[in-house]
Amino acid sequence: MIGVLGGGQLARMLALAGYPLGERFAAVDPSPECGVRDLAHLIVASYDDDVALDWMAEHCEVVTYEFERVPAASARRIAERTPVHPNPGVLDVAQDRLTEKELFTRLGLSTPAFAAVSTREDLDAAVASVGTPAVVKTRREGYDGKGQFVVRARADLDRCWDELGGRDLIVEARVDFDRELSVLAVRSTTGEAAVYPVVENVHRAGILRLSRAPAPALAPELQSAAESHARSIMAELDYVGVLAIELFQLGDRLLGNEMAPRVHNSGHWTIEGAVTSQFTNHLRAITGRPLGSTRALGHSAMVNLIGDLPDLDGLLRIEGAHLHLYDKEPRAGRKLGHVTLVADDPEELEERLARLAPLAG
Ligand code: AMP
Repeated sequence: MIGVLGGGQLARMLALAGYPLGERFAAVDPSPECGVRDLAHLIVASYDDDVALDWMAEHCEVVTYEFERVPAASARRIAERTPVHPNPGVLDVAQDRLTEKELFTRLGLSTPAFAAVSTREDLDAAVASVGTPAVVKTRREGYDGKGQFVVRARADLDRCWDELGGRDLIVEARVDFDRELSVLAVRSTTGEAAVYPVVENVHRAGILRLSRAPAPALAPELQSAAESHARSIMAELDYVGVLAIELFQLGDRLLGNEMAPRVHNSGHWTIEGAVTSQFTNHLRAITGRPLGSTRALGHSAMVNLIGDLPDLDGLLRIEGAHLHLYDKEPRAGRKLGHVTLVADDPEELEERLARLAPLAG
């Protein structure tokens, strides 16, 4: 049995990919209504519940997680008795935007200029050093653009400190990127590694709306650069499983924004759009089985269904459309599902996206 910390849509899609491989699943999640509830042995408990963690350690051959805010101490407790992939040390890095950016820099992946901030004086100095506009972010616990403040002028610093002060912060230069990209890669317990084609991502209000894969008109040099960054980060962290790295493209340069040590929303297109999905490859990696090809099958786009569901039949009438619902109650800003469109060429893909747009913006 494979254990998953977290029982949301990522755990659900892992389970859906795992049954054909002969796997069974257990999950820990505080919510009895979580998306994996019908597909796994669900333990409703908090992520630091020792009884739940010990049950996982005893009954699972391997444990993974679907979100990076899992307490590292919980992952370590399980890892004393059963393998946890990616290893708990990865959580220490990925839970802190500062250590993440320091790792990127050390391994040769440039980032926006950044500086750490703990006090009001640090904030003044950091903004003076990276310049304006700057993005101030909480180092830990921020996601989907939450816990962020854009400083356009020094006059904004008081308000910024009122909103975010008291926590460890990072100040980053706000870069004027051409587009946002991500690269997903996978590495197995045997050290075998593979990288997916780089994806172009469009965010609105901090939430991913649309991914195009492979990223249109990406220079082959940028694909190779993204691949080698992903491989060196995975090797450095002795990483096992799928890793996502979010990037900014500025001309012929890539800057690292953040990484997610898990299957990732910008990889959902791989279910229909790649030879082997990110979910299947994550499971193959953590169970030490051979990895599958990461090659794209044609051109894909993934559109998230957020807040409420559109006309699903209208959507399913679009050729090449594949619907994935997460079995969640509609709520503003909530990811309820996604649609993947697959096409033979980029023009056909854009036509299909244009048909989808009025239904699912
Ligand atoms: P994050 O939580 O770091 O992924 O930030 C959420 C979104 O804010 C990113 O997807 C970008 O669109 C934007 N963003 C974050 N950091 C920067 C930055 N340093 N410069 C420009 N835009 C940024």
